[in-house]
Amino acid sequence: MPRRQEGCGRIKVMQIQRSCRKKSNRCSATFTLIFGLVFTLAVCPRADAKWFDAEQAIMGTAIRVELWSDNPQHAEEAIEAVMHEMRRIDDQYSPYRPDSELSRVNQLAAKEKVPISREFFALIQRALKFSRLSDGAFDVTFASVGYLYDYRKKRAPSQKQIDSALPGVNYRNIKLATTSQSIRFTQPGVRIDLGGIAKGYAVDRGIMILQDLGITHALVTAGGDTRIMGDRRGRPWLTGIRDPRQGKETAVLLPLTDSAISTSGDYERYFIRDGVRFHHILSPDTGKPARGSRSVSVLGPDATTTDALSTTVFVLGPKKGLALIERLPGIEAIIIDAKGLLHYSKGLQPPEPAAMDRAEKP
Ligand code: ADP
Ligand code: MG
Repeated sequence: MPRRQEGCGRIKVMQIQRSCRKKSNRCSATFTLIFGLVFTLAVCPRADAKWFDAEQAIMGTAIRVELWSDNPQHAEEAIEAVMHEMRRIDDQYSPYRPDSELSRVNQLAAKEKVPISREFFALIQRALKFSRLSDGAFDVTFASVGYLYDYRKKRAPSQKQIDSALPGVNYRNIKLATTSQSIRFTQPGVRIDLGGIAKGYAVDRGIMILQDLGITHALVTAGGDTRIMGDRRGRPWLTGIRDPRQGKETAVLLPLTDSAISTSGDYERYFIRDGVRFHHILSPDTGKPARGSRSVSVLGPDATTTDALSTTVFVLGPKKGLALIERLPGIEAIIIDAKGLLHYSKGLQPPEPAAMDRAEKP
């Protein structure tokens, strides 16, 4: 059941402080990035139209939908249509469901050509595009070694196990045949997992469904992937980036309209053993967790792109990752590196000190 946001609420808004060495595009994220309460927004729905929101646990994460509508029944149906689509995507591409289309491919594709759905085919094509773009930093065959990690049971593979699984990790092991719309793996031991792109895709599908239903202002989130349609009725949506080492604290708050943002963090699925953090974003070169960053957020036009790129940049590390982002028009990134330092792409300039002084005054 979607909740209706009643009354005229007041949201306290925080703005980013970037205490930067101006030219270097680097800031200390360990100094508090939060500037304090800068201004306060009033959210006053019109009498005949309201914000509706709902949250459900699907795809192993929290799916959240928020939308503006003047018709409660229509809002409820729209939210349910998005949730239904999320469940469909989970059923089809979950590696944890033995009967999913993805699991079937993992069972068979090393032995034979496996015909797959048009959607699955297109998703793999998109994933391969990011592999080529990043010279294999983004690689859905990471799962050939990735399946040996169990973050809940705090289990990581031995070096020997990694060495024997690693030949499977290479996106070139995937062969797609357009005429038969099929997939084949070129060697045994290859597994794929769409965890680095599927949530973003699901979010994009959610937004498309809402657009088809005539909704013009909405937000859809799946874990670290969010897409925003329109604004929040005259104001931007405010999206926070978590401080990777401070629980639920916000490190950066971004005002956004009509865009997508994805964050990949080493704090999402992890365990610590002997002081070493084992997390879920793996370097395809080593089969081990990528070590260059704590958190990577990517902004762009759609969530499939930002999801894949946040994982990609996380694997590449801040230097190579930012170099890639600067080559891509319409894409920006905020990286908190392994030491807690903040890096951001050239299109994201910090607020002018004068503007911040003004904002501080009531
Ligand atoms: P989440 O939203 O689940 O935190 P991210 O976008 O941060 O996802 O991506 C992490 C997920 O991506 C992992 O859980 C795994 O499924 C997948 N993954 C891990 N390493 C790679 C990689 N090198 N290339 C592509 N996908 C990866
Ligand atoms: Mg991602």
